[in-house]
Amino acid sequence: MISQYLENVILRQFAVLGMPVHIHENYTEWLVQKLQANQGAHVVTLNAEMTMQARKNSALAKVIQQAELVVPDGAGIVLYLRSQGEKINRCPGIELSEQVVEIAAKKQWRIFLLGGAPNVVDNVVDIWQQKWADIAIAGTHHGYFDEVLEQQVCEQLHSSQPELILVGLGVPRQELWIQKYRHLSPNAVWIGVGGSFDIWAGTKTRAPEWFSNNNLEWLYRLYQEPWRWKRMLSLPHFVWCVTKDSLFKAKKI
Ligand code: UDP
Repeated sequence: MISQYLENVILRQFAVLGMPVHIHENYTEWLVQKLQANQGAHVVTLNAEMTMQARKNSALAKVIQQAELVVPDGAGIVLYLRSQGEKINRCPGIELSEQVVEIAAKKQWRIFLLGGAPNVVDNVVDIWQQKWADIAIAGTHHGYFDEVLEQQVCEQLHSSQPELILVGLGVPRQELWIQKYRHLSPNAVWIGVGGSFDIWAGTKTRAPEWFSNNNLEWLYRLYQEPWRWKRMLSLPHFVWCVTKDSLFKAKKI
């Protein structure tokens, strides 16, 4: 019983270019334990693009290093760790969040949705309410706020004390926002969900399975959002950096 408990709560940690990645058999279970114990957590869903941003943005790097859970969201992260001998699988943040939302809906843990264009989160709530009639929504707000609206969001978060807070403001804004305002609801699980609200609302679509199975989700995103090309230049740079890193490690051995 105790060993089962420990297995559920202990995370193995690895590093990818100085960023931590936590390995666990069942991330959803790990988060449910946190929620049940009323212990707060910040979940970061790490991919190659975010890793490269963190190399240039020390504030982002610090937030990632301090997060309680950093899951391997991107194919680049997984391929690198596999090349180091770790048998791990991807944990797409959108799927992890969906699984936690489903459990939260059943247990009536209150959920707060923050981010996305106006109306997007409201559409997500409508869809989720049709799916799970008893889902408890603590509040919602779009992600295009000025200082006055931001203050209102903070008051909403503080007064409602939700158990689960999904923040979709894009990287790195959402990570920095969570770090700045976590104290408003310290026992909540906060997840940076990127553009997931757009997908849940149906305004964007996820890459077909073939793309993810072949580590090409980034190509589908580029097709859907061509303006990303500049950001995606960080991907070959990531490959170059991890290759150099592996060669350096091999030399040391
Ligand atoms: N967004 C927002 N406020 C902003 C800028 C962006 O709420 O000021 C939202 C945007 O509507 C989208 C998400 O943040 O839903 C960013 O999605 P993206 O897929 O670009 O996330 P990333 O790739 O950075 O994880």
